[in-house]
Amino acid sequence: SVFHYYKKPCRCVSDQAKIYGFSKLNIVEGKMQYLYDDSGRRYLDAFAGIVTVSCGHCHPEILNAITEQSKLLQHATTIYLHHTIGDFAESLAAKMPGNLKVVYFVNSGSEANELAMMMARLYTGSLGMISLRNAYHGGSSSTLGLTALNTWKYPIPEGHVHHVMNPDPYRGAFGADAASYANDVQDHIDYGTSGKVAGFIAETMQGVGGAVELAPGYLKLVYDIIHKAGGVCIADEVQTGFGRTGSHYWGFETQGVIPDIVTMAKGIGNGLPLGAVVTTPEIASVLAQKIQFNTFGGNPVCSAGGLAVLRVLDKEKRQAHCADVGSHLLERLRFLMERHDIIGNVRGRGLMVGIELVTDRDNKTPAKAETAVVFEKLRELGVLVGKGGLHGNVFRIKPPMCFSKDDADFLVDALDYSLSKL
Ligand code: PMP
Repeated sequence: SVFHYYKKPCRCVSDQAKIYGFSKLNIVEGKMQYLYDDSGRRYLDAFAGIVTVSCGHCHPEILNAITEQSKLLQHATTIYLHHTIGDFAESLAAKMPGNLKVVYFVNSGSEANELAMMMARLYTGSLGMISLRNAYHGGSSSTLGLTALNTWKYPIPEGHVHHVMNPDPYRGAFGADAASYANDVQDHIDYGTSGKVAGFIAETMQGVGGAVELAPGYLKLVYDIIHKAGGVCIADEVQTGFGRTGSHYWGFETQGVIPDIVTMAKGIGNGLPLGAVVTTPEIASVLAQKIQFNTFGGNPVCSAGGLAVLRVLDKEKRQAHCADVGSHLLERLRFLMERHDIIGNVRGRGLMVGIELVTDRDNKTPAKAETAVVFEKLRELGVLVGKGGLHGNVFRIKPPMCFSKDDADFLVDALDYSLSKL
């Protein structure tokens, strides 16, 4: 029974809890930026179910949209048309720049990146893919190859993926020097391939890797290199899209580029299983010559939910809100750095923020154990944050986009107190 499932978690559930350290937390209800456990205790959700609940838990307008659609039609598959999928595709395409006008719906970020990789390989006739070290692009067998954060020690399927130096201004070998990192991409093409590649994929701000912003100007240089080598450029917007960065609707806009393929998931569905790939008619035409379908992709209920997400984000001006609350949060966190030497770096944009803990600032030695202690302390105080980075020493603050300045203050005060108890 459901009760049994909650009270005696099966092995799979407890393994997940082990990773995130929430072994004693049974969540039963969500309202906007708050979660409630089975004892009725309220938590401030500063991680949004891994950056997924964009508008807020059980947002009334989204709830209404999926309820009404559920009464009408719940499933059709992508072999049929239904007006919800059409309306949603049109609204999503209207949010894209350039010639990014063809939309495919899938169910998750991993599926979106699988499809994008397939498109790149079909379009170019090449197999070689390039991704960044410290990237996360999914947990399916192909996308695990693109992911380069192998602290989980999964067997990685070999072949055709090159991991290039990460343009990380804080930890990277060349600081914020975008050109030096871009040279590494050219080297990989020159020495590791026949001179041709299928594609390059990058998150525009690394998520699981610990809210790492790419060195300014990096994507522009790399997109040129990739296009010259005959490849296509894929932006993974699974975490960065829909205005979360505050300054722009899409993360790639922060680097002044337009990708050939954009993948998205998480925030697009506010918690519904939904993902999308958007590309140009030219690239889509190669896929049109194949049989391509996805049984659940863009199902009517998820499409109605996704359409409502787009509407709510605009109506509630969430992008501007993320910019406003995010800059307040960053300012307060930078001030906290003066009080706690263990904070080595505070970074991010909008409501996508990373706080990296180190045992000494000169050597940047990851404070992994301390991060785990503070993480647990924050939970005791009623604040749920994410944890990430290769060494598990980065707090990830990526709340529902209705997170307020008061919420930010509460989080910073709780962090201040928790750090002072170390
Ligand atoms: N890309 C990025 C940037 C992600 O953060 C994730 C999930 N953490 C994925 C892809 C994979 O998404 P999913 O878990 O929905 O398959």
